[in-house]
Amino acid sequence: MNVHEYQAKELMRQFGIKVLAGKVAKTVDEAVKVAGTLKTKVWVVKAQIHAGGRGKAGGVKLAKSLDEVKTHATDILGKTLVTHQTGPEGKKVLTLFIEEGCDIDHEYYAGLVLDRSTGKITFMASSEGGVEIEKVAEETPEKIIKVAIDPAVGFTPFVGRKLAYGIGMKDKEVIKKASAFFEGLYNLYVAKDCTIAEINPLVTTKDGDVIALDGKLNFDDNALFRHPEIEEMRDPTEESEKELEAAKYGLSYISLDGNIGCLVNGAGLAMGTMDIIKLHGGEPANFLDVGGGATKETVQKAFSIILSDEKVKAILVNIFGGIMKCDIIAEGVVGAAKELGVKVPLVVRLEGTNVALGKKILNESGLAIIAADDLADAAKKVVDAVQGKGA
Ligand code: ADP
Ligand code: MG
Repeated sequence: MNVHEYQAKELMRQFGIKVLAGKVAKTVDEAVKVAGTLKTKVWVVKAQIHAGGRGKAGGVKLAKSLDEVKTHATDILGKTLVTHQTGPEGKKVLTLFIEEGCDIDHEYYAGLVLDRSTGKITFMASSEGGVEIEKVAEETPEKIIKVAIDPAVGFTPFVGRKLAYGIGMKDKEVIKKASAFFEGLYNLYVAKDCTIAEINPLVTTKDGDVIALDGKLNFDDNALFRHPEIEEMRDPTEESEKELEAAKYGLSYISLDGNIGCLVNGAGLAMGTMDIIKLHGGEPANFLDVGGGATKETVQKAFSIILSDEKVKAILVNIFGGIMKCDIIAEGVVGAAKELGVKVPLVVRLEGTNVALGKKILNESGLAIIAADDLADAAKKVVDAVQGKGA
């Protein structure tokens, strides 16, 4: 789960990380009003979307008067920002964060991730902040330093100093502050079950302060039950409608860019199905695992979610019935097809428990189904179908 910058900063503040005063606004009037309550002469108007790269896309603007706050707020609010993280369709700005301006001396980068190869939470820091860290990693990897944290020992002042010296901080006081800053970030990461915590830029100011000017936090969905306070921060306008709908029915659904809809049971088989579609030259439109405990209704829902995606030019149903029975899938597919009508080719591969019954239901449904024998055959047929070659 993702949160907005202003929410990430609220959490960072709770962990002793210094952030600037700022307020959220949903309208231009509100933006001007809250700006007026901040004790500053320079404001920054910041678009709140679940993506980075806002600055470059015109979503972060400096204002030297309340009039300028108004101009920028008018400009940014309602605009669709396209950044390197939003995809080409961009994200519409519905919320602004009005923050105090900061007199930046230097911009650094600090991030935490779980490094699976070492099995440790790993700090990354760089002297090159305020730019795309992916570029730094590619072009000048030596400018990113990494420190893995031993879970048995936890964060020690040594880690903090190693990071601060490593990114070229010189002043003793600044190093002390930066070290405390890193410790706060580590504590936040662990306490809230983050998967990513990233501050880009972390800045030093001319008067020797260390401040987080941006903040990105991702949380482990599987640990959210421990954090109702994080769950409360969820912004449904930032999430795909189809994914939210699917989650309500206990379906694991992720929308993708291709045009072949997939309805599969089991995450492994779903991944395998996507792979084999690609192997045959096709592109999956989604990942969908209906799970083992699906009912006719949930399958019907799953199928209708796939059908509601306009990109979908063919559907592949790939079921290996175990706990999930083939007849239940067949009934769900037929139910949804009757209700919504299927105008695209439908390739079905059924195997396993109650397969004969499942096939019978499909055969008697009157639906134009392209039957497939195995995974490779199914993938080939569905790719042929979208390419208009027929099966
Ligand atoms: P993004 O990463 O999405 O582009 P940031 O919050 O990092 O958004 O802002 C982009 C840049 O704008 C920062 O690198 C920094 O130079 C500047 N900036 C952001 N917030 C402030 C602030 N409060 N005061 C001064 N400059 C800021
Ligand atoms: Mg940033």
